[in-house]
Amino acid sequence: MTGAPPTSPSQVPVGVDPTRPSIARIYDGFLGGKDHYEVDRAVMRKINEAVPEAVDIARGNRGFLNRACRFLATQTKIDQYLDCGSGLPTAENTHQIVQRSNPDSRVVYVDNDPVVLAHGRALLEENENVHMVEADIFTPSTVLGHEVVRRHLDFAQPLVLLHVGTLHHLEGDGGPEVMREYIDALAPGSYVVFSHFYDPQVPELTEVAKRIEDILVHGPMGAGRFRTRDEILAMLPGLEIVKPNATTDPGLVACDEWWPDGPRLTPLSKAARCIAGVVGRKP
Ligand code: SAM
Repeated sequence: MTGAPPTSPSQVPVGVDPTRPSIARIYDGFLGGKDHYEVDRAVMRKINEAVPEAVDIARGNRGFLNRACRFLATQTKIDQYLDCGSGLPTAENTHQIVQRSNPDSRVVYVDNDPVVLAHGRALLEENENVHMVEADIFTPSTVLGHEVVRRHLDFAQPLVLLHVGTLHHLEGDGGPEVMREYIDALAPGSYVVFSHFYDPQVPELTEVAKRIEDILVHGPMGAGRFRTRDEILAMLPGLEIVKPNATTDPGLVACDEWWPDGPRLTPLSKAARCIAGVVGRKP
């Protein structure tokens, strides 16, 4: 979908409005994917002009998701995953990571973007343990009560709930209630993998966060809030937070600092410090 904009309806997946930017396509674009339209690229250009290293937010977020999935797949016996706001399946999706350790792990992806749904269904057709559901992730009852979710995931047993890079797209301040409803539905021993745009409340970083937030909140996207540590942790009520690396106490860190794969030779960019990741366990 790079290059010329779609010229006929047959080039556009059903339900896609190529005149409105999509967060899924923009995120995919930052990660190097090809499924974006000019209207998405216009938003990406604005963000890049405001914060040239903004790509580090998407990369940091995706790297965190991958490492957290690998950690849970290899170090717990959990074999069921509910990935809310899964995004465009490109490479290294949740099922590819966790099924490497346990091919029988079940993964249900949930999204509402027509391009994500079309790609997801095509890619997942041949994997009987992976399913794609269309639902509004900010209305937990529709996800938790969805027939496909209920058929493939057993809520009486521990599972992994992923809400990675999603809640900052919810307009308003309903995040804590949304997450409480999900967490209440989980069995003890379940884990939550969570990331969110982060305002570290350090002036030079807050300034970077605000520049991106302005474009997202006041532009055609309409949402994209950077929240503080307390605001983010308020969305994970009752969870025991997993220690995020060898030297930091349990809590919230920049995604890139969550159990990185190796030593860091260069400092994190300011943008990379504005996306935070947490893994929590329900006692
Ligand atoms: N979780 C993936 C990751 O971190 O790599 C993708 C994150 S992407 C930034 C956010 C995703 O949430 C997009 O795919 C978007 O379509 C989806 N999303 C946003 N609002 C949604 C809603 N109300 N219901 C379902 N999905 C939604």
